[in-house]
Amino acid sequence: MFNLESLIRSNIKNLSPYSSARDEFSGEASVFLDANENALGSPLLKWYNRYPDPMQWELKGKIAFIKQVPKENIFLGNGSDEPIDNLLRCFCEPGIDEIIVMPPTYGMYEVYANVNGVKVNLVPLTDQYQIDLERLENAIQPTTKIIWICSPNNPTGNSIDRQSIEMVLNNFDGLVVVDEAYINFSRQKSFLTDLNEYPNLVVLQTLSKAWGLAGLRIGMAFASKDIISYMSKVKSPYNLSVPVQELAIKALEEVGQVNDMIKEIILLREALVKELKEIEQVIKVNPSDTNFLLVEFIDSKKLYEYLLEKGIVVRDRSNVKYCEGCLRITVGNAKENEVLLNAIKSFQ
Ligand code: PMP
Repeated sequence: MFNLESLIRSNIKNLSPYSSARDEFSGEASVFLDANENALGSPLLKWYNRYPDPMQWELKGKIAFIKQVPKENIFLGNGSDEPIDNLLRCFCEPGIDEIIVMPPTYGMYEVYANVNGVKVNLVPLTDQYQIDLERLENAIQPTTKIIWICSPNNPTGNSIDRQSIEMVLNNFDGLVVVDEAYINFSRQKSFLTDLNEYPNLVVLQTLSKAWGLAGLRIGMAFASKDIISYMSKVKSPYNLSVPVQELAIKALEEVGQVNDMIKEIILLREALVKELKEIEQVIKVNPSDTNFLLVEFIDSKKLYEYLLEKGIVVRDRSNVKYCEGCLRITVGNAKENEVLLNAIKSFQ
């Protein structure tokens, strides 16, 4: 049985979080002398002399409306990397607890676990880049606190089979984090609608991919109110700045534009797949539910260097276990994809 109170680290459970000036007062006032800000203004816009809303309620309201998840079930961070770190700090006792990561996958689960002194138990995906349920079951220890699932997965690009994820959610008593950074490019349904069903589910999403806001650094975690309130206790008080919150609120008005971009990127991706498959140098183009492709080449290392010489940067994944011979290529705009394809075709 999942029991949040026994899963959370006792120091976090008992933590009295820092109470900021903006936490303690939230009514109407005209004279703010509570936060040691500069009362005269700033070299930039006037209101940048003020601290931001620590709980980002207006921005969360916009996200709540778009995602159809209550505000209280949302945590916002500096990219989705922040909630990855935050979850480890909330739930994993350094030197004692462990997490399960299924490579090849996004590297930061492991990096932040190492930063936090949390053991990482690696359970590789199958050769079809799906969860190896039997190996996973055998790998779970009493000290396993979090299982990380990235779907669609980076760097392989495929979605993880929904039934496998449900199996993990139903049978594991720790947290199951489903990282949906690329969900907008996928045909798979998000797990956001399943939050009420699974108290152990945390869904991560980001504004860095489909929303085109990687430079703003806004990541989202969706989970039960109790998980979110522990995460909020642990975060830095003012983790999203005033301009970031303002810009994101504005950007979130543009759902239509973002949906158009998603459709266009998917069309560009499919066109790129088709062209790549016809090139002799290409061994395999992995199916993708994302805005990138994992492509196996006959001579990936040399091709990578060759592309660099031509000013084209892709991601060399050929040294990553289970991605041998592969480059990860972000879907560019039509011109960029043409330049890339011509360069690959000219490679001898
Ligand atoms: N999760 C996955 C699967 C990613 O690929 C990335 C970025 N490449 C992130 C999370 C982090 O994204 P961000 O911090 O920009 O939200």
